[in-house]
Amino acid sequence: MTPAPQPGTPRRVGMFGGAFDPPHWAHRALAETVLAQLRLDVLHVLPTGQAWHKTRALTPAGHRLAMCERAFEGLPKVCIDPREIERTGPSYTADTLAELARQYPGAELFLVLGADQLLAFKSWVRWPEVLALATLAVANRALHIGADADPAQRLEQDLSGIDIPFVRLDMPLHNISATAVRAHVHGQSRRFPDLDVLVPAGVARYISDHHLYETPT
Ligand code: ATP
Repeated sequence: MTPAPQPGTPRRVGMFGGAFDPPHWAHRALAETVLAQLRLDVLHVLPTGQAWHKTRALTPAGHRLAMCERAFEGLPKVCIDPREIERTGPSYTADTLAELARQYPGAELFLVLGADQLLAFKSWVRWPEVLALATLAVANRALHIGADADPAQRLEQDLSGIDIPFVRLDMPLHNISATAVRAHVHGQSRRFPDLDVLVPAGVARYISDHHLYETPT
């Protein structure tokens, strides 16, 4: 028999993973959206360790973790979780979800992701296990999300052909990507006058203090 939940035990638990290189305003908006719309008791934000699907070398994990602390600052129920960067070897979402399932017995798990990740979902390692463990909660993204993406672009990804179950989040499009932030800092993109338009002020300060992204990667 499943033990009765203790008072205060999280019943609805979110996992939001990403490279967060760096975290930006859309990440924060996504966290706020899922906390409210999914009525989460806790949202784990997990910077990836060795991301198996990213081809570029990521900024050292300590910096990405510190920027996440600043990006999600003040959001109640958000827990910045270092477990994937502390894990040796590649980070797989299936492993992290299995750990969360053990940590919160009986809780309902939600995996938060953007449309680009949903479209690539069947290339994920052990994706059926991920689906068995968590409900996918998806925010749409603009069609073009590269370094020179137009922030005002209103054309979003068509998700109508997706044949896996997911919950669609109701969030306005934020056409920001970490790629665009990095390009802006190293001077390739002059589209934005100010870094604060792309990332929360604490993240902008951190990037500047630590001279991150000044050379193209
Ligand atoms: P990069 O440009 O380096 O690929 P990114 O901006 O996609 O990075 P990630 O850290 O890879 O940022 O994203 C973490 C998660 O947040 C992913 O599920 C991604 O789809 C989602 N996400 C990122 N930016 C947005 C956005 N503008 N709208 C909706 N979801 C987003």
